[in-house]
Amino acid sequence: SKKAGKAKGKQSNLRTPIVVVMGHVDHGKTTLLDKIRGTAVAKGEAGLITQHIGATEVPLDVVQDFCGSHFGKEIEIPGLLFIDTPGHHAFTSMRSRGGSLADLAVLIVDVNEGFQPQTIESLSILKRFKTPFVVAANKMDRIGGWHTTTNAPFAKSLKVQSERVSEILDTRLYELVGELYKYGFDADRYDRITDFTRTVGIVPISAITGEGVPDLLMILVGLAQRFLKDNLQLTATGPGVGTILEVKEEKGLGTTLDVILYNGEFFAGDTVIVGTSREPLVTKIRALLKPKPLAEIRSEERFLPVKHVSAASGVKVSAPKLDNALAGSTIRVVSNPDEVEALSLELKSELDAVRIDTENEGLIIKSDTIGSLEALVGELKARDIHIHYADVGPISRRDVIRAAAINDPLLSAILGFNVDILPDALNEIQKTNVPVFSSDIIYTIIESYERWVEDQKNKMEQERLEAVIRPGAVRILPDCVFRQSKPAVVGVQVIGGIVRTQVNLMREDGANVGVIKGIQAHNENQGSATVGQEVAISIDGPTVGRQIHEGDILYVNIPEKHARIVELELKPKLAEDEREVLENFLEIKRKKDPFWGR
Ligand code: GDP
Repeated sequence: SKKAGKAKGKQSNLRTPIVVVMGHVDHGKTTLLDKIRGTAVAKGEAGLITQHIGATEVPLDVVQDFCGSHFGKEIEIPGLLFIDTPGHHAFTSMRSRGGSLADLAVLIVDVNEGFQPQTIESLSILKRFKTPFVVAANKMDRIGGWHTTTNAPFAKSLKVQSERVSEILDTRLYELVGELYKYGFDADRYDRITDFTRTVGIVPISAITGEGVPDLLMILVGLAQRFLKDNLQLTATGPGVGTILEVKEEKGLGTTLDVILYNGEFFAGDTVIVGTSREPLVTKIRALLKPKPLAEIRSEERFLPVKHVSAASGVKVSAPKLDNALAGSTIRVVSNPDEVEALSLELKSELDAVRIDTENEGLIIKSDTIGSLEALVGELKARDIHIHYADVGPISRRDVIRAAAINDPLLSAILGFNVDILPDALNEIQKTNVPVFSSDIIYTIIESYERWVEDQKNKMEQERLEAVIRPGAVRILPDCVFRQSKPAVVGVQVIGGIVRTQVNLMREDGANVGVIKGIQAHNENQGSATVGQEVAISIDGPTVGRQIHEGDILYVNIPEKHARIVELELKPKLAEDEREVLENFLEIKRKKDPFWGR
């Protein structure tokens, strides 16, 4: 009875296509899955619905029933397997041979809000994995004046709407078409499309009222049958291969794996090899567990042991030694002990293909699964951001030390996707001030890192400009020679710009006279003096009466490198007096060398 859904009139052995729902938070992923689940349970005859761990199977009969129309003989797929955990997190966890395990995706967009950050992120992931998808334009029932026809196909639902309502809907849909175009996709309302290989279908739905949901299911079945047939030829028999969706602690069972079995079959007692962050582990399936049908939940036990499952299927695997198993990696039946070595290498290469460990300057990347690591690394590479080291696992002290050792101040940082920071890493972070950008949204991680880079750049630029020696000039006041030499101390008026201690002074004929050692006003030392101020300065070098005289004008002798920055970068920001001093200063310099500072 377990396989009743598949046995019903299906001659072909196409496996059930796996569907993931993605989209921005609150746009209706969970509501849509609930609707589909509810429908599957409500419409299904007893025994037809196969309960899954982490997934809901909607047999073809249920889809047909819901749609009120029948597919022709050409439809051979047994139904659709929806992954229950929505979001790109589940999507990226499910990998098989470098691609995504999801055969199809539904990108759900709140039609009243349009594209949001996670919509864009989902789209970019779908694009990278080349996963076919449809857009569900959700919450159309929120349009003011909407008349609900519960669970109706879109055409039927549209018929009872006022002209105004259908116009608003059309406008919103066209806005979505425009957004999708911006990201490189041709799209249109699904019923206006003839070629689904070239145009992305937009299905207007309400996950709450169920309107348009029959159309969505129908489109998915059609897409699967037409474009995925070759990918679905994997058989439901033979040694099982699955992807680990989650590593979960269960009361009384210890560590278990929630697995989507996508090829072949598992038997209780099978020897399996399982991916970890280090050496793959070999263990024996102690129990295969399915959820208990709702009606039977009386005792504490939520799971029903089964002896056998076949693809595609969601199942909980209980086995010894699973603590180090890695979400996103593979579980595979070992039918012959001789295979262990080859399979082990194959599993290790899955992670090695995504891991990065270089000597180059770059960021440290940590992520929770192989798939999410791949997605984050992919997004960074697309932006030409360098990576020093990327691996699966929590942020450790060693990661912080590695980040701190990076010389480029803009790359000395850690990016984490959905990972913890270990306690000793926290200590090291406080010591080194290495910034950590972490989130469970790739977009947020990259955005906050890029904002930080921008801030750092501005700060460094500001520091650079602050270090530049700026123009300034003083006139030596009459009767204000306090000391002749070693150092000479004279009263001056700043006639333009700024003078600071440690800068050199130059005469109007271009001769250097010495360094300002100190500046005093009212017997107080100060670091600088600005235009208009009268101060006493001590100059190391000249003797009053020989190199300098009362009434002389002395310029800050700006070094050539600095003069170039002042003239090229700061000039528009200079005050009138500063600009005048600069021009006079450059004229003196260029009298001797016309190319000075150019
Ligand atoms: P998720 O974060 O994408 O899983 O979004 P949820 O499914 O949790 O939905 C977020 C909110 O939007 C909930 O309050 C839902 O009841 C509401 N919602 C979802 N779909 C619809 C819809 O089609 N129509 C209306 N009116 N509300 C919806």
